[in-house]
Amino acid sequence: MSTDVSLNLMEIRTTIPPGVTLVAVSKFQPVELLMQAYDAGQRIFGESKVQEVTAKQAQMPKDIEWHFIGHLQTNKVKQITPFVAMIESIDSLRLLKEVEKCAAKDHRVVDLLLQVHIAQEETKFGFSHSEVIELLRAYPQSFWKNSSIRGLMGMASFTDDEAQIQKEFEQLTSLFEVLKQSNLIDPAVFNVLSFGMSDDYKLAIKQGSTNVRIGSKLFGTRNY
Ligand SMILES: *Cc1c(COP(=O)(O)O)cnc(C)c1O
Repeated sequence: MSTDVSLNLMEIRTTIPPGVTLVAVSKFQPVELLMQAYDAGQRIFGESKVQEVTAKQAQMPKDIEWHFIGHLQTNKVKQITPFVAMIESIDSLRLLKEVEKCAAKDHRVVDLLLQVHIAQEETKFGFSHSEVIELLRAYPQSFWKNSSIRGLMGMASFTDDEAQIQKEFEQLTSLFEVLKQSNLIDPAVFNVLSFGMSDDYKLAIKQGSTNVRIGSKLFGTRNY
């Protein structure tokens, strides 16, 4: 099967309003396909494996912003902090502290999102609502020098049930609103809400997502 990445990208772009960031999720896709998106103007790519993102980063143009979107093991953090633009999948305080330590060594400030558990499945990583609030209360942005906590990320359940997905998205936006009403965050910095993938990104944008992560709709099915 051939995939016309530049055509797909053009079509997807017509459905994404200004102010919403498109992350091209390129995990398990070959560099040739990523380069087709790059040549069509895409600069933000999302990857979920440390080994894969470091290999691709080494081969590809340096003006790409790499977003790490998968579960990240603390012992691998140091491999990506030298170049990664954003880690969307911060799911523990231990991981956050490791990112802070490694980013400091690299003399960088890395943008981060706190991953919130919204799906029904047990297997998806992330904080609960109260854990996010507790974390920001105990460790506000002023505590971090090399980590910029920019917002929240979530993944809905793997289901066709749109009402269920909508309910889960609403959980994320309501937490975001609660935080904005509190003084736990600076709304000028903490302004990214990352939810929505190929099958549900249009709904996500309607619900207030500012960062959609689109893989298969852009690059075709993945070969695992
Ligand atoms: C794979 C992945 C995506 C993209 O999924 P598609 O359905 O292919 O668009 C988005 N977010 C995360 C965290 C992923 O792992």
